[in-house]
Formats: sequence, structure tokens, C-alpha cells
Amino acid sequence: MAKHSRIYSVLFNKCPRCGEGDFFVSKSAYDLRNFEKMHKHCPHCGENLVPEPGFYQGALYMSYAFYVAFMVIVFLIVVNFFEQYLDYFLFGIIPILIILTPWFYRLARRAWLAIFIKPAAGEV
Ligand SMILES: [Zn+2]
Repeated sequence: MAKHSRIYSVLFNKCPRCGEGDFFVSKSAYDLRNFEKMHKHCPHCGENLVPEPGFYQGALYMSYAFYVAFMVIVFLIVVNFFEQYLDYFLFGIIPILIILTPWFYRLARRAWLAIFIKPAAGEV
């Protein structure tokens, strides 16, 4: 995967401009005290990661979209390959979504910023 692609930086906690500097301070979504702390500027290229106050309100819509996509994908996998476990899916999806909340939160923020910032080189 190209290092400067948007998908790479969104998935691997990198600045969408350079793909080198970290986006969130903590590498783990499960560092409970720090999982939501972001760098204000990319530690590598200095890109402004918080363009304006309230910028990340839009990331909420992004996280809804990820939740829905995730549920649909898991549902389709279960229905097609593990139909006998469908009851478990219905009960299991809620705790799974709760556990994934910090991960989705971070993913949504990175994806939201990546919409507005063009990678510096390579793939557009
Ligand atoms: Zn950067």
C-alpha cells in the first residue's frame, strides 16, 4: 500500500498530508486517558490537524457511516456463512460496537480530515 495514500493514513493513525507524523498522540484507541488526544499540528510536516473550532463535529456523521457500514458487513458475513449463529449476532453486535467505539471515534476523525487534506505526494 502506498505510504502517502489517504487510506494508509486513516488506518494507521498518520497525518493525511505526509503519512509520516502521528495523528493521535497515543497509538492505541484503548489508552483510556489519552485515546482522544490529537496533535494540533503534525509532528512531522507541521500540517494543521485542527483547522477550526468545531471542525470535527462533521466526524460524527463519519462515525455513523462507519457504524452502519460495519454492521451491514458483519451482518452479511453472518447471514451468508454463519447463519446458525444469527442469534448471537443480534445479541453480540451491541457489546462489539461499544468496544469498538474509541476505535471508530479515531477512525472517523482521521477519515474526516483526510477528506479535506490532499496527500503531499503520490496517490490523490
Ligand atoms: Zn504530516
